[in-house]
Amino acid sequence: MAAQSPSARKTYRPATQLVHSGTVRSGFGETSEALFLTQGFVYPTAEAAEARFNGEDPGFIYSRYSNPTTRMFEERMMELEGAGDARATASGMAAVSAALQCAVKAGDHVVAARALFGSCTYIVQTVLGRAGVDCTFVDGRDLSAWQAAVRPNTRLFFLESPTNPTLEVIDIAAVAKIAHAAGAILVVDNVFATPLFQKPLALGADVVVYSATKHIDGQGRCLGGIILSSAEWIKENLHDFFRHTGPSLSPFNAWVLLKGLETLALRVRQQTENAARIAELLASRTDKVARVFYPGRADHPDAEIIARQMTGASSLVAFELKGGKEAAFRVCNALGIVSISNNLGDAKSIITHPATTTHASLSPEAREAANIGEGLLRFSAGIEDIDDLLEDFDAALDKA
Ligand SMILES: *Cc1c(COP(=O)(O)O)cnc(C)c1O
Repeated sequence: MAAQSPSARKTYRPATQLVHSGTVRSGFGETSEALFLTQGFVYPTAEAAEARFNGEDPGFIYSRYSNPTTRMFEERMMELEGAGDARATASGMAAVSAALQCAVKAGDHVVAARALFGSCTYIVQTVLGRAGVDCTFVDGRDLSAWQAAVRPNTRLFFLESPTNPTLEVIDIAAVAKIAHAAGAILVVDNVFATPLFQKPLALGADVVVYSATKHIDGQGRCLGGIILSSAEWIKENLHDFFRHTGPSLSPFNAWVLLKGLETLALRVRQQTENAARIAELLASRTDKVARVFYPGRADHPDAEIIARQMTGASSLVAFELKGGKEAAFRVCNALGIVSISNNLGDAKSIITHPATTTHASLSPEAREAANIGEGLLRFSAGIEDIDDLLEDFDAALDKA
């Protein structure tokens, strides 16, 4: 594919990459990225088909393997992330599932941070477990625990940072060092940080995965995911698995996500400004709020790592109400513009009660260990006018 994007000539800054990287125009010279809704491709001759299949001609063969619109999305993400190659997937979970399954084989051992998205825990424990892979869960912020969990057959470290829902931050560079010394690779789920605020590959991680359903679409329209790594890792570990098991992203969704990327920097900047102001309000309402978890605040327990590792805070805020579940439900129900839902990174502000929804399947002890109290709420800031959000929260807190 002849790259006609400006990025072929020069490395641009992220806000420019988000608009231009990966764009390949068809002969019509369309302004907006073209949507190639096609299952496959035709070859002018039998010889051309043969060359396509034997790899002499690198063109497209079948949309389960790759598609021009999907490839534009992958290339844009690769430039943003500094990755050598990528594969877009139908959902964030397809990305996590493929990346982890391709990193290990029967008899290997995995070390994973305990604070994982629920379905990620299922993959590590159940899917990999069934395949004969053992896993040890550790407190991701405790570097000595990562080290102590290493066995001679450890091949994979896996973590999310910041974590869901309490926004703890793990030192990615330090964990990568321990992984590499042990002969393992580090896979990072970077959803909460977004590609703008944290670059796991530059920090030493080997593979990065995203749910593009979150900030990348950012407008609640479709599911998607992506796996990014070096060209060698993708070729050796993922390429054949991906072709033959078919977790591919629909070209239509790839097109939606490309358009989402165009406005990612603007949205995330506004969301983060809004989140910081809401965190400030919550911290001032000591009559109702026991604790605020926000990576942009000086009182965050991982403030020193955040300063080293991240270039922005977060569009999410978690906070613990003094009145437990009843107070949390009253606040949810009293909010006007903020929707009760479980997506995050959306243009619309969203509030979630993790203990009864996203983290309801955890045992009460596991929730307690993860700081997920009955009074905890997770707020995903949208791009609404901050004064409307502040008024909404102030009035809702009065009812807590
Ligand atoms: C949402 C999410 C996923 C799963 O993504 P889907 O697109 O819903 O499949 C994985 N990891 C994290 C951290 C998430 O927030």
